[in-house]
Amino acid sequence: MEWRSRWHITIRWDRAENSPAGVTVLERVVDSTAELRHLVARARADRHVVAFPYRQVRELVGAEPDRCRRGHSYVGGSATRAVRDWWPCRCGGHLVLRCRMCPDVRVDPVVSADCTPRRTDS
Ligand SMILES: [Zn+2]
Ligand SMILES: [Zn+2]
Repeated sequence: MEWRSRWHITIRWDRAENSPAGVTVLERVVDSTAELRHLVARARADRHVVAFPYRQVRELVGAEPDRCRRGHSYVGGSATRAVRDWWPCRCGGHLVLRCRMCPDVRVDPVVSADCTPRRTDS
């Protein structure tokens, strides 16, 4: 998995019939600032748009690991399911998976040099 920056924008029209989609509120999620700029420019040019607040969010994308580094599967019953933990971090956070079959601990996404994970190990 990896953290990716995305933009959430909410576009509001004065009346539903004045918007292309026939609704007063439209929520969009875009992956790049170029797409965001495009939406903002279009909203600015539309005199029926009353507001278009947007915010940057970081989202974890990709599939989480399904086995430990020694090959033990995390899927199946409660006996094999990894013990899950979460380390808050500057990057957004890390999922921690502890194998039940061996001492392996997987941290996903991998902790990088500028990470500041707050480990919650007891
Ligand atoms: Zn294992
Ligand atoms: Zn981190």
